[in-house]
Amino acid sequence: MTKESVSRTVRAPRGTELNTRNWRIEGPLRMLMNNLDPDVAENPSELIVYGGLGKAARNWRAFEQIVEALKNLQEDETLMVQSGKPVAVLKTHAGAPRVLIANSNLVPKWATPEHFHKLDSLGLMMYGQMTAGSWFYIGSQGTVQGTFETYCEVAHQHFNGNMAGRWILTSGLGGMGGSQPLAGRMAGAAILVVECQQARIDMRLRTGYLDCQATSLDDALHLIERARKEGKGLSVGLLGNAAEVLPEIARRGLCPDAVTDQTAAHDLVYGYLPAGWTVSQWQDAQKSNPDSIVAAARKSITEHVNAMLEFRKRGAVVFDYGNNIRQVAYEEGVVNAFDFPSFVVAYVRPLFCRGKGPFRWVALSGDPEDIYKTDAKLRQLFSGDKMLHRWLDLARECVRFQGLPARICWLGLGERHLAGLAINEMVRNGELSAPVAISRDHMDSGSVASPNRETEGMLDGSDAVADWPLLNAMLNTAGGADWVSLHHGGGVGMGYSIHSGMAVVADGSADADERIKRLLWNDPASGVVRHADAGYDIALETAKEHQVKLPFVD
Ligand code: NAD
Repeated sequence: MTKESVSRTVRAPRGTELNTRNWRIEGPLRMLMNNLDPDVAENPSELIVYGGLGKAARNWRAFEQIVEALKNLQEDETLMVQSGKPVAVLKTHAGAPRVLIANSNLVPKWATPEHFHKLDSLGLMMYGQMTAGSWFYIGSQGTVQGTFETYCEVAHQHFNGNMAGRWILTSGLGGMGGSQPLAGRMAGAAILVVECQQARIDMRLRTGYLDCQATSLDDALHLIERARKEGKGLSVGLLGNAAEVLPEIARRGLCPDAVTDQTAAHDLVYGYLPAGWTVSQWQDAQKSNPDSIVAAARKSITEHVNAMLEFRKRGAVVFDYGNNIRQVAYEEGVVNAFDFPSFVVAYVRPLFCRGKGPFRWVALSGDPEDIYKTDAKLRQLFSGDKMLHRWLDLARECVRFQGLPARICWLGLGERHLAGLAINEMVRNGELSAPVAISRDHMDSGSVASPNRETEGMLDGSDAVADWPLLNAMLNTAGGADWVSLHHGGGVGMGYSIHSGMAVVADGSADADERIKRLLWNDPASGVVRHADAGYDIALETAKEHQVKLPFVD
């Protein structure tokens, strides 16, 4: 860590005064800076936003250059960003994206963690994760609703729709994993989360995502058992190593009701602390001997996954939460590692078939009232959607904003453009104090190819077909999104995924109406098309209902 990096504090500007030529440029500027806000990013001094090494810019010099380039960008120019470094400003036209981003992409034969880390250490690349390098991370809230929806679906499929009195066991309190305790408590469960870094536990306690920390495994089990008996929602953090704690729980003959994991097991150097290691030993070895971590992490992950499989055998509902942990165990000889499904296959795919996914927006004003007003607007707009209403109520009550105030809610084709247009109207008529940036996660219906996660077990076997996210990025560029990104390796790590992002600024203009109508229709439509092409009936019906033209259907 350089001296320069430690001393910096970045926060997005607030209010209505522009630092750039217009809001289409101000949007990406504020969102880049917001990603590095200490209340948002996991390790801002190293430019790390979340998800292992997921960064917002390649280094501090590149960050400053991006900021300068955006401040000077003209209305008809586009900034090109290559793995976190601004490489060109070129003339395009007023309706084109203002920023185009490509992160961590490698030619397939070279798309390995080893090759990536080599290029990274040479300063030639950075890991963009999903919304880190595409400047639309909104803190742990970004995954709270998805995780909440998943837990509700677990309850629906396995526990008569009720999580009260149920015990969820999981690990990882990082950027995304930090949403687990809050989502678990919101769903009514008693949730125990094992985390190896005290600082991560502290952050979740501080931001209200975690109720309490146990002093020992015995204490944790006691707290969980009490909450379970009382049918009370409670989240408990435990400082420890998942590769040690889960096998110990199994050894004691106990069995949770549901088990998953959100350590950053997709990155065997920076994402998973091997059993028996201290955190400082781990951090030192990241610089001095990364290979030693990989070998030890693989062994520990094997223990971890074996414990998960044991719980499954005892009757627990076990699922992978998109960190590639099963793949690592499988490579280490755990032949039945894939016996438990990914959360997408088990709980999310039907939503993807309807183009439904993690839609989100951010008040560029910095004023929380702007978000509360949009909450009310969405309630009114989708008055019959009980689940959405429940989520918005819970979010208002339980989710503390990190950085610029933001909201996430899962919306599908036919809904997103209505939400976007309503928000743009609110900006136009002065109900909101400044424009709003609108986007989604890359983990969405039509924007990702990831055979161990979003596209695992596709009906037609097209799991690894990566044309879809490329088409999605091209479609959103053609549609005039304000910034578009194309990444490799997010979520599950190098070699395992390709995905794209898009964002649009609702600045209240008629022009924004047009862009929103196009983009927030086409983007979820591309997801419906991807699933219709794979043969999912729900997607075919959704396409028909919304008159999406599918030339391949007779
Ligand atoms: P992160 O790097 O911010 O956090 C990972 C956390 O795991 C850290 O706090 C780390 O200390 C902890 N950890 C590492 N090894 C551990 C061990 N052996 N025992 C206990 N704790 C350990 O990552 P993140 O942003 O939280 O994401 C976590 C993983 O979940 C990633 O692989 C990500 O791709 C995946 N994921 C999450 C979602 C979601 O919707 N929540 C979706 C897709 C993928």
